[in-house]
Parts: sequence; structure tokens; C-alpha cells
Amino acid sequence: MRSFFSTLLLLNWGLLLVLLALAVGVIFLEDFINPQFRPILLFLYVIVAIFGTFYISITIARKVTDPLSMIEKKTKEINAGDFGVELSSPDILELANLTSSINEMAKRLKNQFLDLTVEKEKFNYLLQNLKEGVFAIDGNKKFLFLNRNIPSSIISENSSFKEIKSSVKNRELLQFMESKIKKSAEGRTEFQEGNHFYTARIYPIKSNDMIYLYIGVILDVTEDRQNQLIREQFFQNASHELKTPITSIKGYAETLEYKLNLLPNSNERKFLDAILRNTDRLIRIVEDMLTISRLENHKTILNADFFSLFELLQTVSDSLGVILSNKNQTLRLEVSKTLKVYADRVLLEDVLVNLISNASAYSPEGSLVLVKADESSEKFKIQVIDEGIGISPEDAERIFERFFRVDTNRSRKEGGTGLGLSIVKHIARLHSGEVYVSQNPKGGSIFTFEFPKK
Ligand code: ADP
Repeated sequence: MRSFFSTLLLLNWGLLLVLLALAVGVIFLEDFINPQFRPILLFLYVIVAIFGTFYISITIARKVTDPLSMIEKKTKEINAGDFGVELSSPDILELANLTSSINEMAKRLKNQFLDLTVEKEKFNYLLQNLKEGVFAIDGNKKFLFLNRNIPSSIISENSSFKEIKSSVKNRELLQFMESKIKKSAEGRTEFQEGNHFYTARIYPIKSNDMIYLYIGVILDVTEDRQNQLIREQFFQNASHELKTPITSIKGYAETLEYKLNLLPNSNERKFLDAILRNTDRLIRIVEDMLTISRLENHKTILNADFFSLFELLQTVSDSLGVILSNKNQTLRLEVSKTLKVYADRVLLEDVLVNLISNASAYSPEGSLVLVKADESSEKFKIQVIDEGIGISPEDAERIFERFFRVDTNRSRKEGGTGLGLSIVKHIARLHSGEVYVSQNPKGGSIFTFEFPKK
């Protein structure tokens, strides 16, 4: 195989040699030919020279253009995703190198294409077999993809490449999707379709600050919801059923104490005191359980109003004065006297009583409990800061669960029910807000209760 340059040189030299040989032949023949035929001989020589040159040029051009048009055809096929057969190798070295590179490239692309197809198949299989319903929406609010686990009562079947407006049958879900797409935000919602309850989440997929698509996940939570309802029902029934016998035990124990007129140090007195102490604890637990049931069942209607937080804190401080002074603790209020919050006063009092009494219960004697509050354009924020035993990050998630205590003995000793923070969490939810705990850098905990301005 030769390079283009040497092929060209060789063919031109060949032509030159042929022409020279012919010229020598013509000169030699000239002496033997009648002078009147000489112009014809010359003419023949010129014709042979012209055709020879023409033939050589065509041969050279063909050697280059044939493989080039083959290459052009092949690249077009590759571009269209057809990797077909390999290109045959041309005689010219440079073109042979080019075709072998193109063959290599086609082979590699074909393998990558196959890998991608396999990956896509795997991904599709996974998506189709997920328990959750999964969908993707493009920027023009059209479905790109939907897996088969989305009930057709929520989104019509075969909705790919159709507008969400015409495909989503559930109005709540459609409104949720449209509002999240409008705000380019992620979000979560709960909705009901027939007898089933669902949660839906939507996430924008961004790259270089551009949103390419939205991925959504729909999950049937009917079973969870039913279990939760059963648990809530049990909790509610248990607290109702316990209330009457406990109140009656307390009544009888108090009557006994009054009637028996026992000596202060007698064993009987100690037993009766223990019965009364524990009945009081039981009554507190049952009352907390009933409060949670009321908050859970949304029986509590938010009675929100504007009021002075400072004044409410002073009332709370008065009612907790004994608890704090028993431990020589100081309650400092760093709250503006002019700050007015929009909330349910009774419920917010419950929150503050729970958080401040916890701050006192889980802090040493003589420590400081600080209450701070401020407002931004969007929300109110109240913080109860203590210098106590603190809460580890693992427990921080769980302390808002019912009956969860980090140290059960300590909680009991402090007269805790294990339900206070659960009540606080429910009240936060009722105010569309949240409560969370963080570590006080100086030791102790910071409980933050925040809720939006309405
Ligand atoms: P309890 O009646 O036991 O105080 P809560 O629901 O109010 O129940 O609190 C749950 C648990 O969280 C408590 O038992 C305690 O372990 C922990 N906890 C609450 N507040 C504090 C605090 N300020 N510092 C340390 N631990 C706390």
C-alpha cells in the first residue's frame, strides 16, 4: 500500500515514461513515413497523450473519490444509528488509515450503544416493577414516562407525551403538580382517590440551573393510614376508658386518707401517699393522651389571634415559678414587649409550659433557662435554651415520638409522662409550623418552635 503522494508521483512518472517512449517511437517512425502522413502521426501522438493523461487523472481521482464517498456514506449510516458492515480498506495509505479509524469508531459506538440499550432496559424493568408509581414530566408539562403502577383512576393509561392537564384525573394531584412546576420546586402532598390514600412527591431535575424534567413518585399509603387510624383509635379509646376508673381510684384513696386519719410516719400513710402520687401521675398521662387524641383527630380548631408573646410568657413564668425556684433556676425572657404573634393562645401556652418545664427538669440546680423570640417577614420563631444534660443527635429525632424518653427513670422522677413533646409537635403542625431540637454550644439543648405568619 502506498501513500497518496507516492501513488500520484508513480502514476505521473509512468505517464511521462510512456509519452517519452511514444515520442522516441514517433521520431524513429518519422524517417520511414511518407512526409504527407507526418501530421497524422503527430495528431495520433497528441491524441494518445491526451487520452493517456485523461485516463491517469481519472484513475487518480477514482482512487481518492471512491473511498471518500464510501466513507461519507458510512458516516451517514453511523449517524443514523446503523453500524452495518465494516468498510473495506482502500489502496491509498491515508484513506486506509481513515477507514480503519472509522471502522474502530463504529465498533466502539456499537458496543456503547448496546451497553446503553442494556442499561436502559434494566432501568425500565426496575421502574416498571417498582411498588411506587413513577412518572417524569418535561418543561412543557407533558408526560415523558409513566410506569404501570400508577392507577388509571389517577392518571389515564398511555399518557406518555400527553399534557398533564388532559391526563391527570385526580384534581388535587393535578393542582399539586401544576403549582410545583410553576414554582420550579419540589414538594409532597397527600390525596385520596376512592377508598385509597396516596402520597405524591415531585422533584425537579436541574443541570446548570436549568430544569430539564420533574420526577414524581406516587405511593399508596392506605394500609399505613388504616393502621395509623387503628392506633389512634386505640389510643383514644384507652385514654377514655382509663379516665373514669383512675378518677374513681383517686377519689377513694383521698376518702380513705381523710377517714383513716393515719399517723404521718405509719406504713399505711406511706402506702396511701404512694397510691395518690401514682394516681396523679396516671391522671396526667391520661390527660396528655386525651390531648394528643384531640389534636390528632383535628377536633381542636385553631383559635388563632394576635396577642403579646411577652405577656403570655409572664403568665407561664408565674405558673412554673415553683418548679423553677425549687431548683434555684432562673428564667430569662429575651422577648420584645411589643412582639405580637398570631397563634392559638391556649395551645401556645401548652407549648411553652412543656418546653420550659422540660428545660428545668433536665437541667441542674442553679442553671439558666433562656427564652428568645423574634419574627421575620415570613415566620415567628421561639427558642427555649437550657444548660442541661443535652440530647444526642440520635435521640433528637425520636424525642418527639409518644412515650419516647432518653432516660425513663429520670423522666419518671421528674414527673414526666413522655408525651409532652409529642403534644408540642402536634401543636406545631396545627400552626403549619415545626419544632426541632439542636445542641446548645454552651452545653444543653435549644428547642426551636417556629410557625408561619398567616
Ligand atoms: P417527659 O415527660 O419524659 O419529659 P417529653 O415528651 O416532654 O416527655 O420529652 C421526651 C424526652 O425527651 C424526655 O424523657 C427527655 O429524655 C428528653 N428531653 C425533653 N426535653 C429535654 C431537655 N430540655 N433536655 C434534655 N432532654 C430532654
